[in-house]
Amino acid sequence: MKITEVKITVLRVPLSEPIKASFGYMTHRMSALVHLATDTGITGVGETWINFPYWNYKERVTTVTDGLRPLLLGEDPLRINYLWEKMYSGLLGPFRQYGCESALFQAISGVDQALWDIAGKELNTPVYQLLGGKYNDRIPAYASGLGPKLFPDIIESCLNRGYRAFKLKVGFGEELDEQNLKTLREMIGDDATLMIDANQAWDVKEALARINDYAKYNLLFVEEPIPARDLAGYRELVENSPVPIAGGENIYGKENFKTALANRSLDIVQPDLTKTGGLKETRDICSLAACWRIPYALHMFGNAVGLLSTLHLATAVPGGLYQETDANPNPLREELLSEPLKFADGCFYLSEKPGLGVELNDDVIREYSYS
Ligand SMILES: [Mg+2]
Repeated sequence: MKITEVKITVLRVPLSEPIKASFGYMTHRMSALVHLATDTGITGVGETWINFPYWNYKERVTTVTDGLRPLLLGEDPLRINYLWEKMYSGLLGPFRQYGCESALFQAISGVDQALWDIAGKELNTPVYQLLGGKYNDRIPAYASGLGPKLFPDIIESCLNRGYRAFKLKVGFGEELDEQNLKTLREMIGDDATLMIDANQAWDVKEALARINDYAKYNLLFVEEPIPARDLAGYRELVENSPVPIAGGENIYGKENFKTALANRSLDIVQPDLTKTGGLKETRDICSLAACWRIPYALHMFGNAVGLLSTLHLATAVPGGLYQETDANPNPLREELLSEPLKFADGCFYLSEKPGLGVELNDDVIREYSYS
């Protein structure tokens, strides 16, 4: 079996309401799929993260087609570990000089998922089986992407679909954060699980002040209170915060996770497999976290392919908490697959289809393709 083609499709969806975070906002959803074809006719697909900045897709198209494609053509797609190392070691030097190792991890992520998808199809088994088999029958999800403007209809719809856990975006000033926390807690009730995400908005001093104020809302965790690279600051928070500290969507590769874990800088790890190297690397990261008895809660703010890959990992790997799911409307999550993901009582259930189980809706791809 040989890889005969490597392609990337960029998708762009206009938003009627911008999605805001403490660091900025998106007026369009940008998303990208990496497609691999083989000489046997089996194909594979994966998602590579291109959410920010909005022109990021130009780099990704070039990295996949000029950087990764020549390393993959003619290779056996079943040699996942070998190809992962070939891509990583083949381009790490130039990306270090570029000062942008994270972009390489993001690009490899898309290829990695497509390789697992091909392997599952070739062996006629779901990817979670290749990752060690079913550890969890269902994956409980939490609704994210809420705030700073709260939309009662979105929250109501999540409650109706069985969501029992919610995450609010904070870092918009004490007054608005506190008002939103109060409102959201009232809307979801005292029994529901609540978390907050500051998207790296604070420094240690401010984070401790805010977390001490907000702890009364009974929070499961506070995510990225301070910049991801300030591991000493994270350790200070882990030691002093009344609420567990989560992070990892902006940490790349197992070496960097190991540094954060060994430094006791996180209570919960949140790798994103569309960013940090795909299924192989994220499985390693979750296993590494288990050495410190640290649970994982996989980050996900992408399309249905990345979400599906994430669910395969969460199905197979022990130590998971809730799975993040963006609560805002998104055709690339809701309509990209011909058959929607099974979701009931706030949990995802995977099918037993071979590979990732992705059947893309070509009409949706055509409608949102962008170049
Ligand atoms: Mg986050």
